[in-house]
Amino acid sequence: MTKKTLLGLYLGLSLLTNQALLAWPTEVAITIDDAPTINTQAIVSTLAANSCSVTFFVIGEQLPKYYSALQQALANNCLIGNHTFDHPNITKLTDQQLVSQITTTEKLCQEYFGTKPIYFRPPAGRYNGANQLTLDRLGYQTVTWQVDSRDWQKPEKALACVTSQLAELTWPSIILLHDQTETLNYLPDLLAWLKQKNIQCVGLDKIISDRKKLTEKPLATNRKF
Ligand SMILES: [Zn+2]
Repeated sequence: MTKKTLLGLYLGLSLLTNQALLAWPTEVAITIDDAPTINTQAIVSTLAANSCSVTFFVIGEQLPKYYSALQQALANNCLIGNHTFDHPNITKLTDQQLVSQITTTEKLCQEYFGTKPIYFRPPAGRYNGANQLTLDRLGYQTVTWQVDSRDWQKPEKALACVTSQLAELTWPSIILLHDQTETLNYLPDLLAWLKQKNIQCVGLDKIISDRKKLTEKPLATNRKF
């Protein structure tokens, strides 16, 4: 083997390694906040047509009107998470008020879905240490996100927003979307894009355990989980 061939091989391998480091995450979990609404049924159908299961974070006061769409979602392996009763800033609540927000929604979930959620997402991602203690006591795991679609602000840019953020990540990641009319416009394209990049949509439980395994490795990151 000549020196030139060896150099070529070395450069080729370096390029491959760099590409591997720049790869997209291999898996994501999609989460949809502020459900259920009048749009949930159509969102559930789009997800089912793409064999994709997500986690819907529900607002308790919206359940009595639209819960049936989520019963269908559960039958399609989606999960339900607790997102309070009426979407307050929980850092401003007393402990008693927070407990009421969570348990009222929990009771409705048990009534409509026969199950108690185990994941909690604070409205707007805001929570403090005292909230965390209450959530721990109630048996909830607080889940935020790594990729924010900002679809409630600029829905027309949600797809570009998600794909550009994913390009900077290599770890399994949680994506935040919202249950709203505009989501129906970009969701099919987002699901097609994930498929094209071979990024698997997996359950929240899998992403959380995979990220935990990675944090146990010396490969440290300063990314917020
Ligand atoms: Zn919300």
